[in-house]
Amino acid sequence: MSEVSPLIFARGQGYSVSEDFCPCRAAVEMGENMSKRLKLISATDAEMEERSFPNPYPDWDQGVLTSNSGADVGYNEPLDAEGKVSTAFQNKVQNKIKDLLQQMEEGLKTADPHDFSTYTGWTGIALLYLQLHRVSNEASHLQRALDYVKRTMRILNGRKVTFLCGDAGPLAVGAVVHHKLNNTADSRDCLSRLLQLQRSVLSVDSEMPDELLYGRAGYLYALLYINKEIGADTVDEGTITKVVTAIIESGKNMSAEQKKMDRCPLLYEWHKKQYIGAAHGMAGIYYMLMQPGAKVQPDMLSEVVRPSIDYVRHKRFRSGNFPSSLSNESDRLVHWCHGAPGVIHMLLMAHKVFKEEKYLKEAIECADVIWQRGLLRKGYGICHGTAGNGYAFLSLYKVTQDKKYLYRACKFAEWCLGYGTHGCRIPDRPYSLFEGMAGAIHYLSEMEKPEESCFPAFELVPVN
Ligand SMILES: [Zn+2]
Repeated sequence: MSEVSPLIFARGQGYSVSEDFCPCRAAVEMGENMSKRLKLISATDAEMEERSFPNPYPDWDQGVLTSNSGADVGYNEPLDAEGKVSTAFQNKVQNKIKDLLQQMEEGLKTADPHDFSTYTGWTGIALLYLQLHRVSNEASHLQRALDYVKRTMRILNGRKVTFLCGDAGPLAVGAVVHHKLNNTADSRDCLSRLLQLQRSVLSVDSEMPDELLYGRAGYLYALLYINKEIGADTVDEGTITKVVTAIIESGKNMSAEQKKMDRCPLLYEWHKKQYIGAAHGMAGIYYMLMQPGAKVQPDMLSEVVRPSIDYVRHKRFRSGNFPSSLSNESDRLVHWCHGAPGVIHMLLMAHKVFKEEKYLKEAIECADVIWQRGLLRKGYGICHGTAGNGYAFLSLYKVTQDKKYLYRACKFAEWCLGYGTHGCRIPDRPYSLFEGMAGAIHYLSEMEKPEESCFPAFELVPVN
């Protein structure tokens, strides 16, 4: 695909480039545009071909571990004979992490000094160091996280409220880092500033969307993250309920407006489009509403959330992948932000909450699509890259304990070990958590304790 800058492209489409212009949306719109052109010259295989690399790895072979034929041994590498991630692979990953961390630190010297966000800026780097501290217990990582948190505190701008793109990210991560270092006063200060943001989130006539990147669900995540990391009730239930209610009311209003109350009681739009994926769409919003910490009442979950999930499920492609929006009918994007790698998390949570096999079955089909089409030419990042797609396998592994998914997660990590060698597109923020190198390092670091893996700024609790 030609290297069209999102900005040039956006102008070409006739909408203005606002400050909340999102590269994920560019990906979808650009995809739709490309697709129209491609339809004239080739079949869909070519489109898929150019978005992902053909997966070069053999899939998990159930027979290998029990087989006595010596010839097959080693087929399921990098898992060892017990089905654990082998020590040799762990060492390779650790060495690569060291190497990439150094490259990242060097590269960050030229990064935008004003970008405090989790998505592309300094808070994302702080989160990476928190993760490295979590898996290694090394104090120096926590100190690095603090350095980056301090940097963000000077440049917050009060414009947005979410964890990924707004002030809530740095404030929530700041509260957690200070808490871990026993800086109680600083932690409380971050927390109280975080809670002050709720005014604009709760305002009914605000133009605020509900999705994860710029909307209410992204603020809700910040509150739930605090309670997970610092302790239940650090943010009181009343506050969480108010935010949850605002999200539900907004979805009901949109559904009524579109006369879809019988089919999809909670309907959401972002920039006038009904997106499905985790970043801008309904999968991300429903996923947050189903979190145990959100304390949505069981009758509300079954009467309002569940039929909405089922409505979205019916938009599934035959391949098992999901469209980027309700009106989009071409099966192209396999990203966390748009497609199966984001929707799978909603399905796994629905399986946990509603205890129906159909959700798990479709999650497994998502994983198959991701295995086939998930090694992305867009790069190794979390949002629309191979690392974000690898998290789908880790989440499915945590639910099923099926080694097949641990194996697939390792193979996507193996792909990330070749960072920069596949000729992928270079992202705009090449060292950031959601677009670039920090995200790949975050994913690689999960190989040490895959049972405890956690998609950053999204997953909250182990699903099983
Ligand atoms: Zn994306």
